[in-house]
Amino acid sequence: MRAYFEELETRLLSPYACLSNTSRGRRFDELPSATRTCFQRDRDRIIHSKSFRRLKHKTQVFITTESDHYRSRLTHTIEVAQISRHLSRMLRINEDLAEAIALAHDLGHTPFGHSGERALNELMADHGGFEHNFQSLRIVDFLEKKYPMFNGLNLSFEVKAGLLKHKTPWDSPDTTLVDFTSLEAQVCDLSDEIAYNNHDIDDGLRSYILSESELDASVALWREAKATVKKNYSSLDDNELIHLAISSIISTLIGDVYTHSLHLLKSNTINSLEDVCSFGQRLISFSPEIRDKNRELRKFLYAKFYKHPHIADMNEQGQEIVRYLFKEFERNPDKIPTHFKQAFPSETLYRQLADYIAGMTDTYAQKKYESLKNTTV
Ligand code: MG
Repeated sequence: MRAYFEELETRLLSPYACLSNTSRGRRFDELPSATRTCFQRDRDRIIHSKSFRRLKHKTQVFITTESDHYRSRLTHTIEVAQISRHLSRMLRINEDLAEAIALAHDLGHTPFGHSGERALNELMADHGGFEHNFQSLRIVDFLEKKYPMFNGLNLSFEVKAGLLKHKTPWDSPDTTLVDFTSLEAQVCDLSDEIAYNNHDIDDGLRSYILSESELDASVALWREAKATVKKNYSSLDDNELIHLAISSIISTLIGDVYTHSLHLLKSNTINSLEDVCSFGQRLISFSPEIRDKNRELRKFLYAKFYKHPHIADMNEQGQEIVRYLFKEFERNPDKIPTHFKQAFPSETLYRQLADYIAGMTDTYAQKKYESLKNTTV
């Protein structure tokens, strides 16, 4: 069965795709799966991990207890995986690899999103810092414990490289560690941006933090999508209009990435994975026109949504919880669960602390904060 899937890849995928039968392999040798390629197996290992399940109670923009309908880190991740698969299929590159990278790309996030991460990074300034892309890699390489033969999930090289290379305007990983950027990893990066820009319009409108009239005035992608939708449907309620307009923007962005990336691959005579890695620049990309429009949308979201007082307040609360937990555990390391300390005895207290707090969901961190406050008053 695995050989059949591998043969299908060889037959169907583009010459610049990552093929599972030429993977650089795993850190610890294992017998291959009889029924799945290495990337399919990696995807399944990620889905069955604890860190993946915890994404359901981690902040994307809103703290997860605010509403059932806003994106959590988990639903964001599923949307990124959907767009990554779609684009990979169109480009005839390895859909399973792109999906595995997408599903793992945010595993390293702290509770309370980027604000929680900033707080933890400041607290860890004298102890090696904290960065969520590195943490994603640390989780799959070390912190997940479920196999007797090794720590971590022992994922394939290409998936791990994709995590380290995952880079968005909000991230700052040290990209010198791995000199390997597959098209699948690049697809995941751009899919992340497409997903969050669009679901943040949706969550922004749904929460009444953003208004349609502001979007009409400031965002060309939105205006154009709305005009297309209105041309196709004679009567729409507000909900339908918002949903269809966002769907239309996503389709426009995906179509543009597809066309422009094919153009880049062709005009730069990229004919192999080696060509991709040695090219040194991104080959999966928006066209210049759409890049500008996308930037306009991002600037709008940054000013009107992420910086909104309600979001800023939530972020501040989240940071306070992270700071409090850190200081409290630093003062009383005995309060870090014994099973957690015993699982990683070779780590410094500070790294154990960062791993423990980073792994918490919003809800767990909140509960822990409340119970510690009550017992220390
Ligand atoms: Mg993401």
